[in-house]
Amino acid sequence: MSDALDVVVIGAGLAGLYCARDLARQGHRVAIVDRKSDPGDKVQTTGIFVRKTFVETDLPHRFLGNPLRRVRLHGPRGSELALESDKDEFRIGRMPAMYRHLLRQATDAGAVWMPRTTFEGSQQTSAGSTVFVREDGVRRELRARFVAGADGARSRVARDLGLDVNDRFLVGVEDVLAPCDGRAIDTLHCFLDGELAPGYIAWVAGDAHETHVGVAGEAGRFDPNVALERFRERVAHRFGLDGSTRAERRGGLIPVNGILKRISCDRGLLIGDAAGAVSPLTAGGLDACIRLSGAAARVLAEALRRNDGSLLAEFDGARFRARFVSRLWMRRVISSVTSAFALDAAVSLAALPPLRALARHVFFGRGSFPDVRFAFERAGRAAEA
Ligand SMILES: Cc1cc2nc3c(=O)[nH]c(=O)nc-3n(C[C@H](O)[C@H](O)[C@H](O)COP(=O)(O)OP(=O)(O)OC[C@H]3O[C@@H](n4cnc5c(N)ncnc54)[C@H](O)[C@@H]3O)c2cc1C
Repeated sequence: MSDALDVVVIGAGLAGLYCARDLARQGHRVAIVDRKSDPGDKVQTTGIFVRKTFVETDLPHRFLGNPLRRVRLHGPRGSELALESDKDEFRIGRMPAMYRHLLRQATDAGAVWMPRTTFEGSQQTSAGSTVFVREDGVRRELRARFVAGADGARSRVARDLGLDVNDRFLVGVEDVLAPCDGRAIDTLHCFLDGELAPGYIAWVAGDAHETHVGVAGEAGRFDPNVALERFRERVAHRFGLDGSTRAERRGGLIPVNGILKRISCDRGLLIGDAAGAVSPLTAGGLDACIRLSGAAARVLAEALRRNDGSLLAEFDGARFRARFVSRLWMRRVISSVTSAFALDAAVSLAALPPLRALARHVFFGRGSFPDVRFAFERAGRAAEA
């Protein structure tokens, strides 16, 4: 690749693929760099998409499982809260296939795919950056106007560009099992357990294609692999998972510090987990990946059009942080409740109004990552009017 690129996107997860695809479709010269050979390998996520995402975005529906309308919250000592919606609330993505599809869309639009290539750093130049990568063990240099860091929770791009970095994490691990006998289908089961999932939940979620059994909790407070084995033993009989075969093990870090403040500079920006764009309460990050990546593609395209890196200052995490304040407080409350008695009592209380309404809001809330309108877009609208 001898010609300079417009944007090098580091990371072929949901955030990077959306951003690269959108830019390539506008005719920009884009490369997608990932250390994996296939974006469908070593997937980290369960892939549960919320209603707002599959209704409002162009998520490819053919990679989504059957809709789920029910949630059941289980306390550690047997208390339960059952919630049902009159709408389709969740759909589980078949993520390896979805990632491959998005990559195909990006390359069909002209993006260059660079697998087995690791980002190692970059250096400022008069025309943007020289980006250092290692491809199949060989060091290479790419020249690019901008760098988009979509390289996950422990972003190397963030450190390299001197941007903010995540510092609070959950760690999650799950098994994806071949379809079971149907008992785990149609309902998202969430288990509160201070030992198996300290500060978060364990879950069983399934559709006709596969069943996901997982645990996540605050990093450093438990051993996720041991907790997952114990949780699987505990729920196997109840959900008909005895003898089920594991198709995949997934897992990784989930940043829960809320979106970071400084997520751009005049050489590039951060999206997805790299930007901390994950709900600290639900630990959901897929909706944010799509919305923030769309916004990133728009501001990058405008900065390219004007050849003005200072425009990226508009991509400012501080403008989103207000939406994270209540979620950050709720995360603090959740992580401070550890005893089985208190967790069980919390589930029983949540079954009573008005806490039931709050529980419905958390699980079926219509909130999502805020949509962004940049000053240059508002000015464009005003000029048209
Ligand atoms: C167990 C688990 C379950 C989850 N379940 C859900 C869920 O059901 N619903 C939901 O909304 N959210 C969920 N989340 C959160 C959600 O998965 C993430 O927010 C989202 O997938 C982040 O996508 P991303 O593209 O930012 O990062 P990633 O998907 O992590 O992609 C980063 C990419 O960058 C590449 N990379 C990293 N460093 C380099 C480097 N130096 N050079 C080259 N490439 C590099 C990696 O190989 C990877 O492909 C879950 C998270 C976990 C861990």
